[in-house]
Amino acid sequence: MTIKLLPDVLANKIAAGEVVERPASVVKELVENSIDAKSTSIKIELKEAGLEQIRITDNGIGMSPTDCERAFLRHATSKIETDRDLFHIKTLGFRGEALASIAAVSKLTLQSSKGDEAGTLLALEGGKIISRTKSHARQGTEITVNELFFNTPARLKYMKTLHTELGHITDLLNRIAFAHPDIRFEVYHNGKLLFRTSGSKDLLQVISQIYGIKVAEKMLPVKKETLDFHINGFIAKPELTRASRAFVTTIINGRYIRSPLLFKAIMRAYHTLLPIHRYPIVVLNIEMDPILVDVNVHPTKLEVRFSKDRELMEAIEQALYKKLSKETLIPVVNRTSQLERQTEQQTIDFSQTMNEQKNNINDRKKSFTIKEYKQPRLDIDANQPIKQDDHNQLSDQSAEKKVNDKHRIPEMYPIGQLHGTYILAQNETGFYMIDQHAAQERIKYEYYKEKLANPIEENQSLLMPLTFEFTKSEAIFIEQFKDELRNVGLNFESFGQDAYIIRSYPTWFPEGLEEQIIRDLVEQIVQLGTIDVRKLREATAITLACKRSIKANEYLNLDDMNYLLVELQRTKDPFTCPHGRPIIIHFSTYDIEKMFKRIM
Ligand code: ADP
Ligand code: MG
Repeated sequence: MTIKLLPDVLANKIAAGEVVERPASVVKELVENSIDAKSTSIKIELKEAGLEQIRITDNGIGMSPTDCERAFLRHATSKIETDRDLFHIKTLGFRGEALASIAAVSKLTLQSSKGDEAGTLLALEGGKIISRTKSHARQGTEITVNELFFNTPARLKYMKTLHTELGHITDLLNRIAFAHPDIRFEVYHNGKLLFRTSGSKDLLQVISQIYGIKVAEKMLPVKKETLDFHINGFIAKPELTRASRAFVTTIINGRYIRSPLLFKAIMRAYHTLLPIHRYPIVVLNIEMDPILVDVNVHPTKLEVRFSKDRELMEAIEQALYKKLSKETLIPVVNRTSQLERQTEQQTIDFSQTMNEQKNNINDRKKSFTIKEYKQPRLDIDANQPIKQDDHNQLSDQSAEKKVNDKHRIPEMYPIGQLHGTYILAQNETGFYMIDQHAAQERIKYEYYKEKLANPIEENQSLLMPLTFEFTKSEAIFIEQFKDELRNVGLNFESFGQDAYIIRSYPTWFPEGLEEQIIRDLVEQIVQLGTIDVRKLREATAITLACKRSIKANEYLNLDDMNYLLVELQRTKDPFTCPHGRPIIIHFSTYDIEKMFKRIM
């Protein structure tokens, strides 16, 4: 066997496998090229979700006749020259393979001019130039990709439904539009306008143009500057949630990226404010020295690597948390970073507790500080939620006591309340602190869950029909799933552009939550491509439990406390609230005696 160099056309076709996964990848690469070319207006026209045709027209700097031809060579790029440049990337593209790859798997035409002379018109088929002519001199570039994957049938077969592919494209374009509020985007599908942004530089306006005005009204601005990072954007008030993470957009130096790290930092800031399995709407722009971020780790550059990832996470968490705690007037827990938490000496801070008592802590409007509870390491680490493993330990103890086996927590007797928030209780095995709000959420959650589990399948009509405004991609899915939606009792009547009327809904929808459940349902379809009513009921039970629970800072007398503890004991899972936070912290008699050095 001899080693041969692959012909260019074949090499490009192989590379296309990495870069051009689906129509959305083509749209991404072409639109990013237009942005790199300093366009201020970009038009995207699609036919059949891009599989039949994708046309991108921009008003950027354009290309000279020679560059037009060079652009289709592999590793042909105007964006980097030396390896030093690779560490200072300011453009979206730099690998010089997108055009070559796209051309390799389609029939493509390119028309481009720098505005000073006649333009160039090239036609390619499977990566080979088949005709060259002159064209008009309008400055900018227009690329039309026809019959994508015409020569890679295996890839074509792998495409999902047109709706799914179109969903990917609109999701991508939404995020690109968020990353570039200074650019005017216009998107058409089969001749119909999908959305348009104005290019006014106003991010909130773009959010309103894409997610609708109702969402925009509930967004809070955030801004934070550190030595290394400039963070700014908009985050939703905690009351506005979504069932999927698709509404969280993180942008680094103008590039939309997917980052589990940044997502985690955002979720940490919302911490206890969101019900479990609910996600916020967030658009965050982060600017940093390009040397701090490696974009060359993923062929489509969707994932990146940060050299100061912890600092960045910290900055994001703090910026968002500060805004949210101001907004919600919740008591500000003096949160230390994960990093500090791990290294900090664990001691009881008595002085802090004393100070708090002096303050009027019931005045919720004054944001106050509760120092995070700390104590020496115990055998059962009381600082930790009671974990699955610890359940046994606790129920072992309860077994000693005259406690009903069915219950997973022992009987305990309230002795008082701390800060209007925690029930203090005792029994022979020691001392307990119970978060009263979390406890009640758990009780209500199990109650509603059971109630929603056996609904009577009937519909009830609304006196005042509900009207909804959806995003374009949501509306596309509603149309696709109209029959399935009707089967679960919802009839979506069109009402102008992307708006719908609902006149009746199933009886299991609890009052006041109809709108949220319907929105969740639509989101579920967009995300999962199916309808899962069981999941919806679960999410609804959590929301109900959260809404109708007593809040912290509420005085309870001993009878109230006792009642709550008995109810808690009856639950199936008394250890964590539906958001996953601990309900009970236990100090065994042994631990207490050890702390006071009564025993060594
Ligand atoms: P990369 O973007 O990584 O440089 P591409 O294959 O996407 O590689 O594009 C190759 C080159 O073609 C770019 O470097 C740029 O010079 C030129 N080019 C592509 N699209 C446009 C456009 N819309 N306007 C101006 N120049 C473009
Ligand atoms: Mg490119």
